[in-house]
Amino acid sequence: MSANTFEDAIRRLDTAAAHIDIDPEALEKLKHPAAVIQVSIPVRMDDGSLRVFTGYRVRHDDTRGPGKGGIRYHPNVDIDETKALAFWMTCKCACVGLPFGGAKGGVTVNPKELSPMELERLSRGFIEEIADFIGPEIDIPAPDVYTNAMIMGWMMDEYSKIHRRRIPDAITGKPIPLGGSHGREDATGRGAYYCIKQLEQIHAWKPQQIRVAIQGFGNAGQSVAALLHADGYRIVAVSDSQGGIYSPEGFDVPSLIYAKNTQKRLQAVYCEGTVCEAVEAQRITNAELLELDVDILIPAALEGQITAENASRVRASVIVEVANGPVTSEADTILRDRKVLIVPDILANAGGVTVSYFEWVQNRTGYYWTREEVYNKLRDVMTREFVSVHRRATETGIDLRTAAYAQALQRIGDAVAAQGTQRYFRRQNRG
Ligand code: NAD
Repeated sequence: MSANTFEDAIRRLDTAAAHIDIDPEALEKLKHPAAVIQVSIPVRMDDGSLRVFTGYRVRHDDTRGPGKGGIRYHPNVDIDETKALAFWMTCKCACVGLPFGGAKGGVTVNPKELSPMELERLSRGFIEEIADFIGPEIDIPAPDVYTNAMIMGWMMDEYSKIHRRRIPDAITGKPIPLGGSHGREDATGRGAYYCIKQLEQIHAWKPQQIRVAIQGFGNAGQSVAALLHADGYRIVAVSDSQGGIYSPEGFDVPSLIYAKNTQKRLQAVYCEGTVCEAVEAQRITNAELLELDVDILIPAALEGQITAENASRVRASVIVEVANGPVTSEADTILRDRKVLIVPDILANAGGVTVSYFEWVQNRTGYYWTREEVYNKLRDVMTREFVSVHRRATETGIDLRTAAYAQALQRIGDAVAAQGTQRYFRRQNRG
């Protein structure tokens, strides 16, 4: 992780701003997070000792609505990364037209070293520390790397206890029996899949001929893999934090998912029911996966994976950014010159926050939708916004990332301008 992820992230603003009519005041506002909090979370460990963890929450912008963004548990979480992730959330919500601003949180911890009860105490402790900073009309957390539905359930419960009433709309990504939405679990991968289906139409792809490599086989990576595999795409490589596996013929994805989730490791297998047999596959590193000869590369792990150092060795012709910020701005320039088509994170992975929005709406109305309704609404949002970004890119000769940011900035700029900027006040004063 670079020390300047946030600086690198906001560099993209000026590039996109050149293509739209946006007041400079709106741009200036986006370069400064609205509010930042750092907290210390004391946790009683199972052996009786006390450990103090550091957590952060950043509300980047709330011009278009309450802040929205996940909570990450990872040893590398720091304030700079959290600010960058919050900034991307502002742009993402605006890009797909959700009535939210952007926020993000995280705790610097390796959750794999904690017992389930320590994890619960940490999650409740974090909410206790940030309870005054979040809320259904202020800033609504959700899952991110190494946090899941159960953790969101604990967090919602803790927030409700603090306020002495049930407040399900304070947190999204909850388990369904606790007010979660159908379709939230696979929403991020499904949103990316709907983008790929649009590209399939535009480029008249034959799925059986398209080879896909996926870095990161967690929530988002697994769902996009499963959906593409079901349509006949060849998933030839996948990886997790321990490394990856490669098979030019393609993997049976449901078997991979079953093995990963039951044995907690990535293994090339073929399963019938619960009986799995190992199958031949080459072991590769995460670095090698990024440079494989494939058609679509899907980074679905962490940011900063494709950099100025390795961008020239990427052989995929399409990159779909399921992770947030997997391509640095320097790498972006190299890939653009090489005509690699990139579906940017603020569009490709917006399915997660879109279904989080649906969950929040359902919690607030108390009226719950079927899985099919959620999928249909998600498909409508993703398709509409992808088509709009793609049209803007084609009509003005810009890349998809610049077009996605331009679309987001236009919406944020309109909201800022609606409250009046210097242009407006000067005119009024001259009156
Ligand atoms: P997850 O915790 O479910 O999965 C992360 C996966 O990445 C795991 O398989 C892990 O082993 C792997 N991984 C970790 N470090 C790695 C490394 N150095 N190289 C390769 N793999 C590594 O997380 P997730 O929710 O699937 O999130 C993945 C990415 O998608 C993140 O960038 C996240 O911000 C982004 N995202 C997630 C959501 C969501 O709703 N979950 C929404 C939008 C964006």
